[in-house]
Amino acid sequence: MTATTIPIKSVLSAEEIAAQRAPAPDTLRLPPADLFATRAARLTSLARGHAMGEYLNFCARLIAVQDRALAALKPAARPDAALAERCRSHGMPLLDAQGGDLDASAFGAFGQALALILEEAQTFAPAPARDIIARLKGLGADALAKEARLILKAEPGFDTGYAPFIGAALQVDWTRRARALEAGDVFVREEGSLCPVCGSHPVSSIVRIGEGGHGVRYAVCGLCASEWHVTRIKCVPCQSTKGIAYSALDGEGADRFKAVQVETCDECKSALKLVSLEKDPNAEPFADDLATLMLDMLVDDAGYQRAGRNLFYFAP
Ligand SMILES: [Zn+2]
Ligand SMILES: [Zn+2]
Repeated sequence: MTATTIPIKSVLSAEEIAAQRAPAPDTLRLPPADLFATRAARLTSLARGHAMGEYLNFCARLIAVQDRALAALKPAARPDAALAERCRSHGMPLLDAQGGDLDASAFGAFGQALALILEEAQTFAPAPARDIIARLKGLGADALAKEARLILKAEPGFDTGYAPFIGAALQVDWTRRARALEAGDVFVREEGSLCPVCGSHPVSSIVRIGEGGHGVRYAVCGLCASEWHVTRIKCVPCQSTKGIAYSALDGEGADRFKAVQVETCDECKSALKLVSLEKDPNAEPFADDLATLMLDMLVDDAGYQRAGRNLFYFAP
């Protein structure tokens, strides 16, 4: 497959004019209970006949375990009202991934989620991954917390073999905590480039079908899966509206990935995917991102750096 550039329409369509009169979209969407079940089903379907099918199937099974882990954990408590107010008034993320709580003991939600993920994953993981799981099981709480902190801060130095398992458990814990919030608890910066709930990078962005039937764009958190409203045809990392272009996969077999485009920005040379439910109502921002790594390689060759952060996939 190759990538093709898609022209941006310069004249507003009838739908876009109607969209301007539509009610304001929600600024924040918190993760639903069936997040991981939907994601696993989507990735299982994308894995069929895919050149990377074995890897994608493994990821889909890991996500199915995340679904069971989330259901098995006790729901998180509502945040402390004074802390929520302080974060909101200072524009700080309430579930700060950089410096917030992380209990890596066997009793914390993260530790419990990881234990279940490792237990189940060793039954379906390929042999090299089973070795990683065995080593990871032997890691003490301090060493585990250190690895997890580096992943959360997006700092180098963590073990990339451990990363998808630790990343999966971190996603379960943060999604669980985000589910205890209400949209009003969170300060949502207009056009923010990081998640207003936890401060993490987006994995990709999604175009949803809004109330007026028009497309509404959200950036999707790679950690807690919260979605925050962002403008279309505008770079999420640097907010530039100049030098924006779109590419999609082209050629034989590309039709399955018709929901996915990548938005490139010539101002900051970054690239973030755009997953459109208008083009495919079954698309899912994390699963469709993983299944289109080919598109990342093509824009990387063209000199753009991937801005999305997928905790199952770490570029070397
Ligand atoms: Zn988040
Ligand atoms: Zn930019």
